[in-house]
Amino acid sequence: MASPEQQPRQQPAPPFAAQNPTAQGPPGALPAARSGAPPPAARPAFPGSPPAPPFVRAPTATAAPSAAPPFGGPPGAVSQQRPPFGGPPGAAPQQALPFGGSPGVASRAPTPFGGPPSAASQAPPLFGGSPGLASQAPPTLGGPPTATAQSSLPFGGPPVAAASQAPPFGGPHGAASHTPPFGGPTAVASQPAPPMFGGSRPAFPGQPGPMTAASPQSMPLNFGAPQQPPPPFTGQTQFGAPRPGGQLPFPAQSAPAQQLPFMGPPRANAPAFGPPSWQTQGAGSGAMQPPMGMPGIPGMQQNTLGPPGTPTMPYSPHAGTQVSTPSKIDPTQIPRPMTEGSVIIYETRQGGQATIPPAASSEFIVKDTGNCSPRLMRCTVNQIPCTGDLLTTSGMPLALMVQPFALPHPSEEPIQLVDFGEMGPIRCSRCKAYINPFMKFVDQGRHFICNLCGFRNDTPREYMCNLGPDGRRRDADDRPELCRGTVEFVATKEFLVRDPMPAVYFFLIDVSMNSIQTGATAAACSAIAQAISDLPEGPRTMVGIATFDSAIHFYSLKRAQQQPLMLIVPDVQDVYTPLQTDLILPVSECRENLEQLLESIPNMFENNRVADSAFGAAMKAGFLAIKSTGGKLLVFQSVLPSLGVGSLSAREAEGRANVTTGDKEAHKLLQPVDNTLKTMALEFAEYQVCVDLFLTTQAYVDIASISVVPQTTGGRVYYYYPFSALSDPAKLFNDLRWNISRPQGFEAVMRVRCSQGLQVQDYFGNFCKRVPTDIDLPAIDSDKTVMVTFKHDDKLQENTECGFQCALLYTTVYGQRRIRVINLSLSCTSLLSSLFRYADLETQFASFLKQAANGIPASPLPRTRDEATNTCINILQSYRKHCASVTSSGQLILPEALKLLPLYTLALVKSVGLRTDGRLDERSYWMSLVSSISVVLAVPLVFPRLIPIHDLTTRADDDSLIPSPLMLNSENVQEDGVYLLENGEDGLIYVGNMVNPATLVQIFGVSSLAALPVQLVLEQFDNELSRKVNEVVNEIRRQRCSYLRLRLCRRGEPSGDFFRSFLIEDKAPGVFSYVEFLVHVHRQIQSKMT
Ligand SMILES: [Zn+2]
Repeated sequence: MASPEQQPRQQPAPPFAAQNPTAQGPPGALPAARSGAPPPAARPAFPGSPPAPPFVRAPTATAAPSAAPPFGGPPGAVSQQRPPFGGPPGAAPQQALPFGGSPGVASRAPTPFGGPPSAASQAPPLFGGSPGLASQAPPTLGGPPTATAQSSLPFGGPPVAAASQAPPFGGPHGAASHTPPFGGPTAVASQPAPPMFGGSRPAFPGQPGPMTAASPQSMPLNFGAPQQPPPPFTGQTQFGAPRPGGQLPFPAQSAPAQQLPFMGPPRANAPAFGPPSWQTQGAGSGAMQPPMGMPGIPGMQQNTLGPPGTPTMPYSPHAGTQVSTPSKIDPTQIPRPMTEGSVIIYETRQGGQATIPPAASSEFIVKDTGNCSPRLMRCTVNQIPCTGDLLTTSGMPLALMVQPFALPHPSEEPIQLVDFGEMGPIRCSRCKAYINPFMKFVDQGRHFICNLCGFRNDTPREYMCNLGPDGRRRDADDRPELCRGTVEFVATKEFLVRDPMPAVYFFLIDVSMNSIQTGATAAACSAIAQAISDLPEGPRTMVGIATFDSAIHFYSLKRAQQQPLMLIVPDVQDVYTPLQTDLILPVSECRENLEQLLESIPNMFENNRVADSAFGAAMKAGFLAIKSTGGKLLVFQSVLPSLGVGSLSAREAEGRANVTTGDKEAHKLLQPVDNTLKTMALEFAEYQVCVDLFLTTQAYVDIASISVVPQTTGGRVYYYYPFSALSDPAKLFNDLRWNISRPQGFEAVMRVRCSQGLQVQDYFGNFCKRVPTDIDLPAIDSDKTVMVTFKHDDKLQENTECGFQCALLYTTVYGQRRIRVINLSLSCTSLLSSLFRYADLETQFASFLKQAANGIPASPLPRTRDEATNTCINILQSYRKHCASVTSSGQLILPEALKLLPLYTLALVKSVGLRTDGRLDERSYWMSLVSSISVVLAVPLVFPRLIPIHDLTTRADDDSLIPSPLMLNSENVQEDGVYLLENGEDGLIYVGNMVNPATLVQIFGVSSLAALPVQLVLEQFDNELSRKVNEVVNEIRRQRCSYLRLRLCRRGEPSGDFFRSFLIEDKAPGVFSYVEFLVHVHRQIQSKMT
C-alpha cells in the first residue's frame, strides 16, 4: 500500500488550492497550463522546462561572461535525421565493417528521409492553449513518411498489418503481476457504462509496412589474418592526433582569483523549480541541455598502440584450456568509440513503429510521436524477444532504465499536463494501466482494448469519440494522452491520502571538533546560506536546522526572537525533538534568522573539543522534526559516527588487512555492518523523509553502512575526501544548490507495467520497496535512474508490440499531485539476429554496471570480475554461434551494435569498484553512485574522457567546445602536455613533467611544477588558454550536471598512478590491456564453440 496511507498525522490544509483551479473543461482538455501557477514568473517551469544552470561561478569580471550561457542557446546545427532503424546512429550505412573479413551480412536500411528535417526551426507547440493545440504540431519532422521511410521500417520487423489485428495480448492475465496501482483508487475501475456515440472504424494505429529482414551486422576482428585494406570509413583520426605545440606568448596576467565559494550573480531565471504547471519554453531559450555523455556513437577510430605480440594471459581462469594459434590483432583496427558532432533529431515512432533511439551519449532532440523520449526510459534491446529462451540464448539482459525527470533538450517540447477533472485519468479497469497511444479503441470508440493486459474496457461516456477512417479516434492528435509517449495527469482525490506535502528542508550540520577544525562546518554553513535563495519560492517552503556532536542542538528560528534559540537534546540513545512547532518554519518567515545563525555557527563551536559524533541520533531527531510532513534531510557529516543510535566502528584497518591477504570475506566489509540504519531508513521512507549525505571527511566513515540511508530514501551520498577547505567549498555549494534546485518531486510511488508475457522481475535504485510491484521514493529528481528488469512468464506473439508503462505518482515542489506516465512500445521478435542488431549498448552496459555494483558486497572480488567478463563473452559467443556468417576461426566477430562491449567490460573490470587497491570508502561510494546512475553517465564513470588542454588555443577541430577525446592509453599522454580526464565525478588534471612553463603560467598562474598547489582551485586568468580551459570545464559540468572534483595529478606521485589507472587500454598489473583482452575474449569464445 502506498505509504502515505500510513501517515498517522494529517497535515493542515495547505494555504493554497491543491486542485487545478481551471480547466475543468472537457476531459482531456489541456488544463490551461499556467492557470494555477503563480504569475508566469521568470522561473522556468519544472520539469518540462529546463532548470537553472547547475553550477555558477564567482562573479568576477572575467568569469561572468563565460558562465553566462550556461545552458546553451539553441543547439547549433541540427543537421542529422536519425534513420529509423538504420543501426548505430551516425555510422554511415555499410561503413561499419572496417575489419576486413567478409562483411557479408550487413544490409543496412537506407536512410529514411529524403531531406534534412527542418525541425529545428519549429517552435514547439505551446502548451496551455486550447485543447486542439497539440494537434497543430506538425506530425513529423521531416515531413510525412515517404516511401523510403516505409521501406526502412524499424526493426526490419514483421509486417505491421498485424498491429491492427486483434489485441496483442488477449486473454486474461495473471492477476499477480497486474495489481492495482499505487495502493490505489478504486474509483476509476467502475466507470459508468458509456452510451453509444457515433463513429466508424474499429482499427487502430499501425499502417502496413514492408518487411525487411533483420540482417545481423557483424564486425569481424582478424586474428592472424592477412592485413586488411584500410578501413572504409574516412573519419578523421581524432584520437592520437598530433598535438600542436600550443605554446602561448608568455606574459599572462592573473585576473583576480575567483572568490570562493562560487556564488553566482543574482539569477533572474536561475532556480530550477518552476511554478506548479508547465510553462512554455521556446526553443533554445537559454535553457539547460540534458547531460550528455561522452563516448559517442560506436564507430571506428584509428589509433596506434604498442606492437601486438602474443599477449600473456594474466588472470584468466581458463587461459590454459585453449590456445590454438598465436593470435595477432591489429591495434589500429580495434573498436573504439568516436564522438559525433551534429545534433540529431529523433522521432520516437515513424510509420506506426518504434524507431531506434540515438546513442544515449549523443546530442539529440526528441520529438515524441508516441513513444517516450529515450532520456526518460530506454530498453536494453529495441526489439523484445518473444520467448525467455531466446533471451537466454542471447545472453543479453532485458531491462529498462527509467529516469522519469531526466532533463530535456532545450529544444524539446515540454511534457504536457492533462486534467481529466473529477473523473481522473482513464485507466484500464483490470490492470489499471493509464490511457496511452497504444490502447486500441474499437466498436466506434465505445470500447478500448488495453495494450498491456488485453482487457476490453468500456469507454467512459465523457470520453467517447468517433473513430476516423484510419481507425484512430478523430481526436487522437488533439489529446496528448493519445498521441504522446509521455504525459502527466493531474491526480484526483483518489490519489491523495493526505494533502500534498510542502517542500521541507532540514539541515543537519556536524560541529564536532574535527569538522570545525578542518573547515567543514564553515563550508557547510556557507553553502547553505547561499543556497537558501534557490529553494522553491512560496509559503509552502519550510526550513529547519540543527547541529550535532555528541548531542543534538536544535534552533528556534522565530522571527520575534532577537537571536536564534538553541535547544539541546543530550540523549542520543532515545532521541526526541523539542518544541516541535518552532523548529520548522516557512523560509520567508525565518530567512534572516537562519542566515544569521549560519554565519555564527562556526564561531559558536570554534573551541569545541567534542570529537564524538551522534550522527544516527541526529538524523533520527531531524526526522522527528519533519515527520509530520515529510521532507528532505540534508546532512553534513565529517567523522565516523561514534555515539548513540547507529554508531559505527572503524572497519577500515581490518578491511585493508583482509584485502591484502586476499581474505575471502573481504567483500563483507562493503556490506552494512548491521541493520540499525536500514531500519531507521525504512521508517524515514515511510514518512516521506529523504536523506542526502554530504561527507566532508578526512578519514574512514563507513560509507558501506551509512549509505543505506540515502539509498533507501531516494537520496544520495556526496563524498569529499580528503576534504579541503580550500578547494572543496565551491563544489559543496554547487552540489547543494543543484540538489535543491533541480527538477524533483516528493512522496512518489512508481510502478512499471508491461504487456502480458513479461513481468517485472526487480527494481534497482535508490528507493524503498514494501510491496513487490511498487517502489516508494520519498524524493525523486532529474539525476536518479531506476533499473527495472523483466522476465518472461509467457510467450509474446511475433508481429505484435510489447508495451511498457511507467507511472510515477508524485507531489511537485509546489504541492500539486501529479502522475507522470511514460510509455514505450516495441516490436516483438523471434529472431536472435534482430536482438543483436537492435541491442542498445549503453543501456546494456548500464545494466551490467549496476549488476556488478550490486554483486560486489555479495561475493569475492575475483568472482565479480569474472562474472562481468563472462557476461560479455556469453553475449559475443551467442552472436558468433547463431548469427555470424563469417566462420573463420581466426576472427573475433563482434555484433555491430555491441562492438564496444569488450572495451567497456574491460573498463568495468578496471574500475574503482572492482579494483582491490582502492580504499573501502572509495569503493562503497562508487557503489552508491552506481546505484542510481543514469545511462548517459554509466559509461563515462568507468570509461572517462581524456582531453588535452595545453593546446586548446591552437586546435583546428573547433566545432565543439570540448576537443575530441583521446583514446585511453599512455601513448596519448605526453610529458610536455596537460590533460583533463573526467568521468562525471572527478576531473583529474595531469601535468606532465616537461610542460612549458609558459603553459603553466597561463593555466595555473605558476611558472614551475614545484609551485603547483596541492589542492587545485581552477582560476581564470586573463589569457585565452585559461579562458578556454575554464570553458571546457564548465561545459563538462553542464553536460554531466556535476561540478567535478578537480585534482592535480603528476607523474611519480600516487596521484599520477591514480590518473593512469584510468588508461583502460594499457596493461595494468594483473589485468589485461585492451588488445590482450580481445584476444582473451576470442579464445574463450573459441573454447566454448568446440
Ligand atoms: Zn489492462
